[in-house]
Amino acid sequence: KKASYAKLRDVEPFTRDGERIQVMMNAGLRDDVGMLAMTGADGIGLYRTEFQFLVSAALPQRERQARLYRDVLEAAKGKKVIFRTVDIGGDKSLPYISSEIAKEDENPAMGWRALRLALEREGLMKAQARALLEGAAGRELNVMFPMVSEPWEFDAAKEVFEQQLAFLKSRKHKLPSVINYGVMLEVPSLAETLDLLLPKLSFISIGTNDLTQFLFAADRANPMLAERYDWVSPAILRFLRRVVQNCVGYPVDLGVCGEMGGRRLEALALLGIGIRRLSITPAGVGPIKELVRKVDTREIGDAMMGWLASPPENMRAALQAWAKEREI
Ligand code: PEP
Ligand code: MG
Repeated sequence: KKASYAKLRDVEPFTRDGERIQVMMNAGLRDDVGMLAMTGADGIGLYRTEFQFLVSAALPQRERQARLYRDVLEAAKGKKVIFRTVDIGGDKSLPYISSEIAKEDENPAMGWRALRLALEREGLMKAQARALLEGAAGRELNVMFPMVSEPWEFDAAKEVFEQQLAFLKSRKHKLPSVINYGVMLEVPSLAETLDLLLPKLSFISIGTNDLTQFLFAADRANPMLAERYDWVSPAILRFLRRVVQNCVGYPVDLGVCGEMGGRRLEALALLGIGIRRLSITPAGVGPIKELVRKVDTREIGDAMMGWLASPPENMRAALQAWAKEREI
């Protein structure tokens, strides 16, 4: 099986009806980038910049951050990379700021984390913005903000970047050739005000790991709940389909970057509701490419539409049977 995935490395993932699906990978360490060539992924749809912070004993200096971002872009050899600004706090606490977080947070996943923390620790955000702008000098920079819950948080985060950009410009530094800004959609409240934000966005990545835990009010790290809520279920799929529909008409590149997209039936369901870009764990790239090539998006689209309108008792079983009939 491994060998057959290797053969798929240079094969573009087109569906049977000719839709080109973007199959990207998630990464967080410099060495992960090598997996781009090994898997033939279309790019890095989620680069978790907090990994550098998590493996450091102290806050990484701006120069070190910039060097990492430059190295990653260099190693990606022109493939697209989406850098997510730090998502620390929550389950990813840091020895050098965690005492503050632990004091405040009884529910760290819903607490002072990610953009919430970064916008208040202005020095941290400014340093990362500058590091990303410097690291991407002469190249395309794609910046994604985590845990955006209301549109103003995107505006405030982008403003930090624009200020740093103006500074670098005034000093005649080399700038990125293009800057695209986007958000993670992982807090359900953002879906309700997405229309206000859509005109300002280049891309959206749905983070189904956090989104699911917030939608079901079920801690993603609690093993007692791990099997309880299914990604292939009407609640999550109806929610996601509504997001897809709300994006129609905007030039926004919508994708999914949670673990959900790396599982076969889940990926099939996502194709069925109109998702055309997945960013998944590198090991999933081969299997998901293989899946994509067996799918007719119109056919699964019709099936999903029916199931979401009047859900079968067991949606996973229905989808499983449907896939089996078609040897998917
Ligand atoms: C997510 O929440 O789905 C996601 C991709 O981000 P992380 O797993 O890093 O929270
Ligand atoms: Mg998340």
